[in-house]
Amino acid sequence: MTGTPVEPRFERQARFGPLGPEGQARLAQRRVLLVGCGALGGVLAQWLTRAGIGELLLVDRDIVEESNLPRQVLFEAAHATAGTAKVAAAAETLARIGGPTRVIPHAVHLNADQLLELGAGVDLILDGTDNMATRYLVNDFAVREHIPWIYAGVVSSGGLVLPVRPGEGPCLRCVFPEPPPPGVLPTCDTAGVIGPAVGAIASMQAGLALRLLGGADPPDAALLDMDVWSGSVRRLAVPRSETCPCCQQRRFDFLEGAAMDEAVSLCGRNTVQLLPPPGAPAPAADLIEANLRSAGIEVLRAGPLLRFTADAHRVTLFPDGRALVEGTEDTSRARAVLARWVGA
Ligand SMILES: [Zn+2]
Repeated sequence: MTGTPVEPRFERQARFGPLGPEGQARLAQRRVLLVGCGALGGVLAQWLTRAGIGELLLVDRDIVEESNLPRQVLFEAAHATAGTAKVAAAAETLARIGGPTRVIPHAVHLNADQLLELGAGVDLILDGTDNMATRYLVNDFAVREHIPWIYAGVVSSGGLVLPVRPGEGPCLRCVFPEPPPPGVLPTCDTAGVIGPAVGAIASMQAGLALRLLGGADPPDAALLDMDVWSGSVRRLAVPRSETCPCCQQRRFDFLEGAAMDEAVSLCGRNTVQLLPPPGAPAPAADLIEANLRSAGIEVLRAGPLLRFTADAHRVTLFPDGRALVEGTEDTSRARAVLARWVGA
């Protein structure tokens, strides 16, 4: 034994043989990009912070709502009442847990530009999202930049986990070559979701993450299929695809191709997110607030966020021009509400 020192806080964890004091020291040097800090992401953020990884970059575009609370472990009722940005609420809870991890929140929508910036030089990317477009974007970036990432999806009482190690095993597109058309897969809208499924899937992801970041040997590629209601766990061998457009043909359609949809209906939220056109100037929040007030509409300012209710839709406007329009899944309706009251 070389006698690598271990802080008392991490003594039990470092006593776990495959990690050891050396593994603990490795964790302290690692930087992780966590995409989405709601359900899966909340559990992931908690395990990684408690484990003492060096730096955790949190990305989430959403705000906390009451219906998040049964499964999104970093959030409390007060966050939902205030409509706090998820990354801010997560950072607040993680700060209370304490420890040496640097937590850096980013309240942005993860498009290709954001990913290129935030993902530069990270040691691992973790999927805590609920949408396929972001996962295919992350897969392209991770394969191109040779960064490991761990896909996970959860719905109803179970889900899937796939660790991706570019160059060493299959990527997401080896296993699922194309994203499914909208509406094809069950979602938390149609099928619901229970908290323990989120906890189990995210904990599997977090365990594999600790091995990738701190272990002496990485995990094998396998697609893990788990269900906490039936109690079933399946481990499916998945080969690399000889014809994979991403890791074999090195075509990065989602990273370098057409822009992502600028209006998306958010899973389980009855909410539409609208993105500003590329290069659009930031909204003039003070002016918008003044205009709304003169129209007799009450406006709330929560830090950089501007929020109001009009036409029976609650609207949240972010400093980057992004907007959430609640009370609809119709992107046209959402655009209309925003155009009418903000002039976007
Ligand atoms: Zn592939």
